[in-house]
Amino acid sequence: MTTGNINVSVENIFPLIKKFLYSDHEIFLRELISNATDATLKLKHLTNIGEAKGVTYGNPVIEVKIDKEGKKLHILDQGVGMTAEEVKKYINEVAFSGAEEFLEKYKDSAKESGIIGHFGLGFYSAFMVANKVEIITKSYKEEPAAHWSCDGSPKYTLEESDRTERGTEIILHINADSEEFLEESRINELLVKYNKFMPVPIKFGTREETVAEEGSEQEGEEKKEKTITVDNIVNNPEPAWTKQPADLQEEDYKNFYRELYPMQFEEPLFHIHLNVDYPFNLTGILYFPKLTNDLNIQKDKIQLYQNQVFVTDNVEGIVPEFLTMLRGVIDSPDIPLNVSRSYLQADGNVKKISSYITRKVADKLKSLFNENREDFEKKWNDIKVVIEYGMLSEEKFFEKADKFALYPTVDGSYFTFEELQEKIKEKQTDKDNKLVILYASDKETQHPYIAEAKDRGYEVLLLDSPIVSHLMQKLETTKENISFARVDADSLDNLIKKDEEQISKLSEEEKTTLKEQLEKVIPQEKFTVQLEALDSNASPFVITQPEFMRRMKE
Ligand code: ADP
Ligand code: MG
Repeated sequence: MTTGNINVSVENIFPLIKKFLYSDHEIFLRELISNATDATLKLKHLTNIGEAKGVTYGNPVIEVKIDKEGKKLHILDQGVGMTAEEVKKYINEVAFSGAEEFLEKYKDSAKESGIIGHFGLGFYSAFMVANKVEIITKSYKEEPAAHWSCDGSPKYTLEESDRTERGTEIILHINADSEEFLEESRINELLVKYNKFMPVPIKFGTREETVAEEGSEQEGEEKKEKTITVDNIVNNPEPAWTKQPADLQEEDYKNFYRELYPMQFEEPLFHIHLNVDYPFNLTGILYFPKLTNDLNIQKDKIQLYQNQVFVTDNVEGIVPEFLTMLRGVIDSPDIPLNVSRSYLQADGNVKKISSYITRKVADKLKSLFNENREDFEKKWNDIKVVIEYGMLSEEKFFEKADKFALYPTVDGSYFTFEELQEKIKEKQTDKDNKLVILYASDKETQHPYIAEAKDRGYEVLLLDSPIVSHLMQKLETTKENISFARVDADSLDNLIKKDEEQISKLSEEEKTTLKEQLEKVIPQEKFTVQLEALDSNASPFVITQPEFMRRMKE
């Protein structure tokens, strides 16, 4: 028997990485800025623990520069840099991750450092858009700077450089197919999409700013303004979700919502701050937007981040389906992504995350209900779709929501299911002693039936959301001894009358004639004409349809 190592030749694997590793070419910038961010955060960590002697961390910035004439894109950072040896180790060895090594080495102390990389492949995505890449880098250690250069073949050159400042400059010689990445607007678009909330400030060009001239605020003097040129920082390094809920005001949450959705003018109804670090790490803020009965609600509004790097706005699988109608941000380094970070695998962690989110949403709704019932009732119409959908699709959510889900009446009161049962248990039972819950789906057209039922002292719910009919079925199977019946069904007759029989104003003869007349024009196999059973000022007679037949049509 012989054993051996499978020999993967770099020559074979290199073009594969370049072409197929990432389906989306534009992510090269995200990867390079992630590396620059990692390099900066590593330096921060090393100075914090006293390992980078003589280094002042200061206020490092990452800079992106376009050189249109030279067809080059530059990414510069002031992070740890690399020695020539480190370039050989980290860059020349494909799939060796310096980020992972760092986390391994500094273990617990580095856990909170926010280091992003871990596959050791991100850097090579640069070759998707560049036919030559250069690295000029100077380590924070006392060693000469290094200059690495590679044209995409497995051959590279490495020599000393005269760079004196600490940090790294990556130079991409953009290839002919990728010249879009020399356009300012395109780069800006990418920075906003992927890097808007990354933890190190990112500078892209400069911009003009109008400020008050110094001393001009003094009394008696006219206010003077002047225009100055400042760095154009494209990101907010400290987005709201990275802060503690106790440090945030209601206004901060609203401002962050506007930051996330600049084109959204409607304010959110409320927010839920997610913050857990065991057994998985997850932070985020979810918002309940105003929803209507329209089921074509825009989904895909929740953004997924990993260590403040945008990954995707498709959170399918992580957030239960019924909550994809919400908006906001989820950030978790524990969500497993394949190397292209575009697809999620449904593994144990993800399932735990999904049920955590469901629980948090249910708890928040519960506390809103408990703390301010009146306000909760006001919001009900805007949030019911999510809640009813959740009750139908997630058993755990049903159990919790059953305590605060509301059932409005035609008169504008709101009952929980339990309150409703209590309220109607005396009057609204049928011969089998089942509770009959009457409801209307349209106040206008069903008005006579509603009036009739109310005359008899019954409660009539107004249930008009598109999924509520499914919820009724669910309630009928979950709860014992209850059934729903629409007011215009034959349901009212099935109710046992507690009051005395009412006496019709029509004579027996009149009734018979009227009934005969009506039955001539109404298909009897589908409807029933009743004169005796019901009587009120509102309706001299009623035409009803069995509840089961009505449901069949739906
Ligand atoms: P990963 O980020 O997953 O570790 P990459 O292929 O993106 O893998 O980068 C490989 C390694 O190269 C990094 O882990 C890091 O050690 C080194 N590196 C890349 N860019 C920089 C940089 N700007 N400054 C310092 N080191 C860097
Ligand atoms: Mg990386």
